[in-house]
Amino acid sequence: MASAKKDRNKERVKLYKKVRNTSTWGSTVFYLIMILLFVVTMVFLAGFVLEYIFETKFAQGYRELKHTAELYELADKEKDKSLMEHIETENTDFIVRDKTGKVLYRKGEDTCKGEGSDIKLSNGEETYKVYEDSKLGFIYPDGDGGLGFKIKDFIKWVSDHEENIRVPLWISIDIRSGEQTFIGKAQLTFDRRDTILVIEFLSGVAGIVFVIGVITIIRIIKSAVNYKRVVRLFYYDPVTKGHNWMWYVRYGDERLRSSFTKKYSFAVVNLVFRNYRTYCLCHSLSEGEELLARIDKALSKELKKPEMCAHATTSNFALLLRYDDRQKLTERLEGLVKKLHEIDSEHKFDFQIGADIVPVYRNEGGRILRRKDVSIENVYNNACSARAELAETEETGIRIFDNALLEEQRWRDIVHEHQWNALKNREFVVYYQPKYDPRTNALKGAEALVRWDSPEYGFVTPGRIIPIFEKNGFITQIDHYMIQHVAHDQKAWLDGGYDCVPVSVNVSRAHFSENDLAQQIRDIVDREQCPHELIEIELTESAFFDDKKAMIETIKKLKEYGFAVSMDDFGAGYSSLNSLKDMPLDVLKLDAEFFRGDNAGERGEIVVSEAIKLAKSLEMRTVAEGIEEKEQVDFLAQQGCDMIQGYYFAKPMPKNEYEEKMQRSKIAENN
Ligand code: C2E
Ligand code: MG
Ligand code: MG
Repeated sequence: MASAKKDRNKERVKLYKKVRNTSTWGSTVFYLIMILLFVVTMVFLAGFVLEYIFETKFAQGYRELKHTAELYELADKEKDKSLMEHIETENTDFIVRDKTGKVLYRKGEDTCKGEGSDIKLSNGEETYKVYEDSKLGFIYPDGDGGLGFKIKDFIKWVSDHEENIRVPLWISIDIRSGEQTFIGKAQLTFDRRDTILVIEFLSGVAGIVFVIGVITIIRIIKSAVNYKRVVRLFYYDPVTKGHNWMWYVRYGDERLRSSFTKKYSFAVVNLVFRNYRTYCLCHSLSEGEELLARIDKALSKELKKPEMCAHATTSNFALLLRYDDRQKLTERLEGLVKKLHEIDSEHKFDFQIGADIVPVYRNEGGRILRRKDVSIENVYNNACSARAELAETEETGIRIFDNALLEEQRWRDIVHEHQWNALKNREFVVYYQPKYDPRTNALKGAEALVRWDSPEYGFVTPGRIIPIFEKNGFITQIDHYMIQHVAHDQKAWLDGGYDCVPVSVNVSRAHFSENDLAQQIRDIVDREQCPHELIEIELTESAFFDDKKAMIETIKKLKEYGFAVSMDDFGAGYSSLNSLKDMPLDVLKLDAEFFRGDNAGERGEIVVSEAIKLAKSLEMRTVAEGIEEKEQVDFLAQQGCDMIQGYYFAKPMPKNEYEEKMQRSKIAENN
């Protein structure tokens, strides 16, 4: 069970994370990768385009320089003065050096910078030695066999010059079979078209990157908003517009398990608005829901950090509160209920509250530990169980889950689990408690009372099982079982020559929903061939609150079949004299409470004697229950009470002991 719940929680968190990841991180990462890919592609493309342009310009510049170098070589070789003069008139600056580096000839300004380095162009195998121009060195050898390009300086220069742009680069050419070096200032001529192409290309790329960037940011914002919406859908309660159960479980677990909160104790609380259904019936569903929203708001307003409130189900609210001690928690909860009462001054609402405590976890050394395994759902379930204990009363109440309650629930579970097997294995035994005439001390009757003789749980009294059976419906089985066993015993005793007296059997109120109850009882008794006058049916007073008409019908039928019918526990709980008026009963059993505590004494005696008189005038016999004292017996005898059932005479006893009582009473009567 626990692992199933764990899995369910894991699944929920996984689903939630999936939504979060796909809605924000997913698209963010996707767009960032797209941008990166685009930029890389563009950089490569830009590299290729620029390289192509430069190399074309370089080749052109080199060609012109080579021509000048060849002219110089020829003029120098032929000592051709006119040719040399012609070279002088040309625009190209150059330096001629011998092998030792000595300058043999120089034309124009020497702006050749540095030692130079070899470069290799992408379109050929040849290597060129080039030098940067110290004045306008936009293009320079980058030292790695390629050419560098100072874009910023270039763009500035381009924007300042309208005409074609001539970018200088010094290139070395061997002449005189390598004996001399001609280093000339090549002019790499970029016309307007080239520069515009480069600038447009670069600004185009920047523009596209910008647009993609903007789209990405918009997408990320949209995803974040969507994520918020999904979170709302996940954790939002449409009725109260506050938080829902999913949110409570998700963050409740987190808060209980967090290392920040480990030093706090918490109370997990289930609060139920008892009047919700009735309110919806009398007003409308939407008004009911509006009220729930107000409750949620009022509760949330009372919270401190890190406390929580959520609408769990229809009229149930789940809270997580800080806990100091029982007293303070009870006061706080009472305070909350007070606040809730202020919501609507016209109505008096009832709120039932159950709570369970999550204490601080400590190891043996007293160090505080994280509550890693605590599950708010489990604790909330305990709180609900505590609250369910109050459910039968309609009124406001607070119940805190404790060990006794846990034990009660475990016991309920055990009974529930074992009831059918116990019935099959005949573990339920009939005990008989005799009823005596207080004047003659003669045995006049008995009551059959069930006990569970469990091999596992020992001898269990009815107080521990009957309320459970009444709730889960198994009581009808017990009642049938008891009637059948009593009828069987009576028949056997009758056949054995015993002086049998009527034995009363308790029939639960739950049974009265079956309209053929009288026939069922008759059939069971008949199957055992027991005379009907030896069986009496006891009905508890609380049973008289149900369907009165059906009850009267059943009582009449039972009487018609020859069974006596008695009202059990008269005077306990809600006394209903009305029931006496309407029900044609034979016996009135005065509850033991008449003879105990506050009811005892002079006033009690008056009530008892009047009740006996009342019964007599209604032609009913009376049985006093729970009589333990001799004085009580004497008093009841005086008042004309017909029978006494109590420890003074005898406790409920097993069948064999009761048999002895029957024999003895016979002997006593004969004497
Ligand atoms: P009840 O029908 O009112 O039974 C009388 C209870 O009072 C019995 O408790 C009996 O043992 C107890 N009692 C009798 N005289 C004295 C006395 O002098 N002092 C004290 N302290 N107690 C006395 P028991 O047997 O524990 O039964 C409790 C209740 O369980 C019964 O109350 C009855 O309501 C229910 N019950 C027992 N057996 C059955 C059954 O077979 N079917 C149904 N539906 N209910 C049963
Ligand atoms: Mg009874
Ligand atoms: Mg009773």
